[in-house]
Amino acid sequence: MLQILVDPEKCTACGTCIDACPKGEIIWHVDKIAHANNLEYCHVCTICASKCPEDAILVDRNGPGDKKVHKHEHVHGDDLFS
Ligand code: SF4
Ligand code: SF4
Repeated sequence: MLQILVDPEKCTACGTCIDACPKGEIIWHVDKIAHANNLEYCHVCTICASKCPEDAILVDRNGPGDKKVHKHEHVHGDDLFS
């Protein structure tokens, strides 16, 4: 199962992943570090990982799923764009 991991040691909360991702804020949320949620919307294009200036993102197509990816279901349905 797909998982997207952010290395908390590397992430600077710059927000580049939000801008780079075709799904933007649907998937990415940045507070102290970036978090990827709602991965059912992810295209697995890996643009986020390639654009991250800190090389902090790991897109793992075959991750363990529920172990590490917490599917916070805070989908802001009305905020969806693209
Ligand atoms: S682009 Fe990389 S460093 Fe910037 S917020 Fe996203 S994960 Fe963190
Ligand atoms: S792999 Fe692509 S669609 Fe998925 S979170 Fe990264 S940039 Fe967004």
